Amino acid sequence: MFARLLCLLLALSPTPAFAGQVAVRATDPEELSLQAFLLALETSISTMDRARWIDLLSATADRDQAREFFDAMVPQGITRVVVKERDRFPLQGSLPGEGYRLVVEVFIETGPRGRIATWQVDIRRPRGDDIGRQPWRIVTQDRLASIEGLHRLALNPEKQFAARNLVLKAVDFELRLPTGDVFVADTPEGVTALVLIGDGTMVFQPAPKEERGQLKLFAGTESLETPFTSAFVRVSPFEFEQRFKDDMLEPATLDSRQYRRGLDAFDNNITKSFVLDLSDLSRDTWSLLPQPGDFVAEVNTRRFDNVTYARSIGEAEDVTMFQRERKRNIAAYASEQKLASRGRFFDEDHLVDYDVLDYEIDASYYPDRQWMEGRTRMRLRARSHSIGVLTLRFADSLNVSSVVSDEFGRLLFLRVRNQNSVLVNLPSPVARDFPMSLTITYSGRLERQRIQDESVDVDFSDGNALESRDQRSAQPDDLPFVPSEPKWLFSNRNYWYPQNQVTDYATAKVQITVPYEYQVVSSGILDPFSPAAAAAAPVEGSTRVIPRVSYSFTTPQPVRYLAFLVSKMSRVDTATVALDIDVKSPGAPDMRGAHTLQEQLNRLNQIVTTAPTVGGRNTIQLSVDANKRQENRSRDAIGTAAEILRLYAGLIGDAPYGALTLAMVEDELPGGHAPGYFAMINNPPPVTPFNYRNDPAMFQGFPEFFLAHELAHQWFGQAVGWKNYHEQWLSEGFAQYLAALFAKERRGEEAFRDVLRQFRRWAIDDSDQGPVYLGYRLGHIKGESKVFRSLVYNKGAAVLHMLRRLVGDDAFFGGLRQFYAANRFKKAGTDDLRQAMETASKRDLTRFFERWIYDNAIPRLRFSSAVEGQELVVKFEQTGDVFDIPVTVGITYVDGKTAEFIVPVTEATTETRFPLTGAVRSVEPNVDDAAVAHFERR
Ligand SMILES: [Zn+2]
Repeated sequence: MFARLLCLLLALSPTPAFAGQVAVRATDPEELSLQAFLLALETSISTMDRARWIDLLSATADRDQAREFFDAMVPQGITRVVVKERDRFPLQGSLPGEGYRLVVEVFIETGPRGRIATWQVDIRRPRGDDIGRQPWRIVTQDRLASIEGLHRLALNPEKQFAARNLVLKAVDFELRLPTGDVFVADTPEGVTALVLIGDGTMVFQPAPKEERGQLKLFAGTESLETPFTSAFVRVSPFEFEQRFKDDMLEPATLDSRQYRRGLDAFDNNITKSFVLDLSDLSRDTWSLLPQPGDFVAEVNTRRFDNVTYARSIGEAEDVTMFQRERKRNIAAYASEQKLASRGRFFDEDHLVDYDVLDYEIDASYYPDRQWMEGRTRMRLRARSHSIGVLTLRFADSLNVSSVVSDEFGRLLFLRVRNQNSVLVNLPSPVARDFPMSLTITYSGRLERQRIQDESVDVDFSDGNALESRDQRSAQPDDLPFVPSEPKWLFSNRNYWYPQNQVTDYATAKVQITVPYEYQVVSSGILDPFSPAAAAAAPVEGSTRVIPRVSYSFTTPQPVRYLAFLVSKMSRVDTATVALDIDVKSPGAPDMRGAHTLQEQLNRLNQIVTTAPTVGGRNTIQLSVDANKRQENRSRDAIGTAAEILRLYAGLIGDAPYGALTLAMVEDELPGGHAPGYFAMINNPPPVTPFNYRNDPAMFQGFPEFFLAHELAHQWFGQAVGWKNYHEQWLSEGFAQYLAALFAKERRGEEAFRDVLRQFRRWAIDDSDQGPVYLGYRLGHIKGESKVFRSLVYNKGAAVLHMLRRLVGDDAFFGGLRQFYAANRFKKAGTDDLRQAMETASKRDLTRFFERWIYDNAIPRLRFSSAVEGQELVVKFEQTGDVFDIPVTVGITYVDGKTAEFIVPVTEATTETRFPLTGAVRSVEPNVDDAAVAHFERR
């Protein structure tokens, strides 16, 4: 039934699922009669008495069909039944109050087994009949959906085993227990859970080199062997025999003290994985069985507290180790078996069961109560060849009251504990390309999204586009400070609307209603008659009402995710930005012969005005909204933003979104956030206790850097996404690099070099923490988000600049445009960039990306130079792995003149000659700090 319940591996503790159901008016005679009917229904099931069911039928009902239904739906051996009404509609062709169509959920326990079904029961009140104890009669009954295979697991008190050199193996992982006690929880299919108690050893030896590097950061060793005192293991019962050799477990006499220890371990761990939340149907813990191949071990180690190892064969990275309590990922990678089936790279989209095409969201938000009420209609299309369960990401704190599809009517849904997930069960599996519309209704408390990169969740690692500065690098001062104007941001992290399991490009219409004193900025273009007055909301327990206003937005182009921001803002300015995109231009000019950096940079301007375009859009509607105290600053921002947009559109040859709203808000921490169609920029309140020096994202003397970075995300990060968390550097690296190009444009070569110097310094300082390709996991183990920004942002940008200097400007900007155009409104990977750049430059770039992105070493270059006649001879020697690394050599002549040239260092030894124009005073490698390398002079 559940083909893929990956997220269940990480389930934690209960949350209510079914809330806001049919209101019960217990004093209403009609209501009482319907409840009496449901009780009669429940009794006929719990007593397994078909005759009682038949007694409930109306005179005209098909008795054979009813008998068949009952026999198929009601098993023998029932121990408990719960029937809950979920929906009620007037029955077609009936007078009011004469008939209803009821949708009921029926939970049936047969001892330790459970099943849930959704039934549709049409009932009618017979006219003039003897109505007996309750007046309702069944006309028809049908099954809409069911979920089977639920188990209430218990540690078997009758079975105890003595471990005899027990070794339990999974990929790169072992639990060894030479002697000790073992208890089991079994099902009719076999053992599915075990508890090991005793002095054991946990061994974890990840195969990939970069994972060993991360393990070393966590444990101080690349190959972990550590003592444990107890372990809880889940396996598929069908695999138990294979995993345990006969002589490892010897039946032992029962020891109640040890059993109690085992029970403690069992109770502490059983709810952590493979558990569904049945809410009002049952408060017990109901588990699913792991699929064959899946394996989870919760290990209580002496040195590292509780550590979880999981193998989940459905995941692209099927081997993981993490610390649940600390939400800390230690390892996540593909096993050899997985690599053989999927190849080295993966696209998270290939694992999803459906595509979302379009959203219509109508939500109200009350900032004072942090309360949301909403209805989202989503159009989707099945991707798997057969799909029976749709998994939606949706905030745990929002209670779903109904999920209705145009195709199937009301659908059965369940929430997975603490997973921000809703599982929607389809009555029958649908085939690939099947189109569906779902409408989800919900309400609940929803807190704003915090601007913090550090605590990325274990299972979904989309730390995208949320720029934040580490609070620890901000130092309090003695000044009294002014608190920031409050704001409420809802974006990719807090699942404020139902969405796919991964980001998914879709168009949308979004309407957000707020109390009238607030303004809303959202993904999309503000509709012409928006904002508009909305119905006032009553205040509970009072006669007062809250006047409200609605903001409506449309996104004609697809966005990766939707976001909105609520704050007290006003519109400061609007402008139409004309872009330098020549739609008819055949292509970029030939730039051969531009050898020096200056020549190349000069030629770049020619490309800007003659670039081919993707979308042919020639304007962007730019608006600026601001908090009151930020209005002055914001008036300057519109001009700068227009300049930035013009530069980027020219370089890339396209503007993906036709409108952009800049929200200038206040925050003690600088930073911002950039969904499609808008950018939120944090500005310090007038007096703030923090300063933000010494952070990888701060560039002294270049205050526009944040704005330039955030605006670049419209192209990279939004229009071009990334295939999985490993590829996030494509978004941040390009945003950082485009911002650096703007620095050069606005403030000149020195400002640009100052930025390059900082890129290099951060890249060198933090590269020992892992390769750029680890994405959000960089710095994650030690909770240092600075490391993530040093490498994913700054080293990423430095690598792009080195690539540009290696292949030349025409190839680089041509390749960039090609890469962008091919991946617009799609997710891209490093390999896509490599191929675009290889095509444009006609050279093999495998080693370039291998060293700079997938590995983390910093090259060491030995440099020497000598004057031979009228020529300068420079020589670079690489010790260790050979990198492709362009180095700018600067010459200072005796007369004070200077010259620079780029040496593409691509061999263990590279020697080049340059003509001299006078007597040389000095020669210096890497004068522009563009090469991320250590230099030694000989
Ligand atoms: Zn960014």
